[in-house]
Amino acid sequence: MTDIEDLEENDKGLLSVNVYFLKEEDGKKSILLYQLSKVPKATHHINLIKLDKGDVSHFVFVKNYDRLISSQTNKMKATKHHCQGCQKGFTTKEVLDKHVERGCLAVGGQHIEMPDKEEVMKFKNHSKKLKAPFVIYADFECLTVPKEVNQNDNTQRYQHHRPCGFMINVVSSMDGSSYQFLHRGEVCLDVFTDRMMVKNEIMNRMKEEKHIIMTEQDQRDFDNATHCFICGECFKQGDKKVRDHCHFTGKYQGCAHDDCNLQFAVRYYKIPVFLHISRTMVLILS
Ligand SMILES: [Zn+2]
Ligand SMILES: [Zn+2]
Repeated sequence: MTDIEDLEENDKGLLSVNVYFLKEEDGKKSILLYQLSKVPKATHHINLIKLDKGDVSHFVFVKNYDRLISSQTNKMKATKHHCQGCQKGFTTKEVLDKHVERGCLAVGGQHIEMPDKEEVMKFKNHSKKLKAPFVIYADFECLTVPKEVNQNDNTQRYQHHRPCGFMINVVSSMDGSSYQFLHRGEVCLDVFTDRMMVKNEIMNRMKEEKHIIMTEQDQRDFDNATHCFICGECFKQGDKKVRDHCHFTGKYQGCAHDDCNLQFAVRYYKIPVFLHISRTMVLILS
């Protein structure tokens, strides 16, 4: 394979080579991408199929890539125009070109690979289940200011959205409290940036460390617990049971494995910011 890369390198934009391979699974053969060329828009392009026999590989020239891939992507075997990266078929060359322009080849090729039947996927990232103690919601309002239209543009922009105000709402899930800040005025983007520094105050509050408060009921719950409330697995012999508590309120939250409890820490915490930027879009930052 390095020979192919060297060949592309020596020919400086003249030649690009994609390599595909034959995969056989449950008696079904499919041709999948093995290596995508790093040379964009070369003068000459060729596709090869890598066939393995023991330790030896043979490379076979593909005369008509679209016809070859059509045989595996549509039952009618009608020739379509296929993307060299994701192998998706398109009815016309124009639609395929648009697809490629949007950057499919930049991601280095992809195909769907299903896991084996016996394989089990298991969620392990328990820190992600921790509810965000603080969330910031923000929304802008704009004035629509008329704009000079450029008749030569395909899209004619006739209005400019000028920000004229915003509201920030900081919500805490710990005590249900919220803090709002509303601003109206010309320089609202600068004021918005200043106000978003509220994140520093929040991060300081994140350092609070209250001692655990255990009621009698909490203690009974802890003594009788058979399952970790974080991962849901049952406690085995030798497992260390620990009391998980909220570091802001001191409230007991449940009985957990020692490891799970360490994962369930706010040190992984980032403040989610939901910023409403248009009628249909919400930008999520964190
Ligand atoms: Zn593609
Ligand atoms: Zn656990």
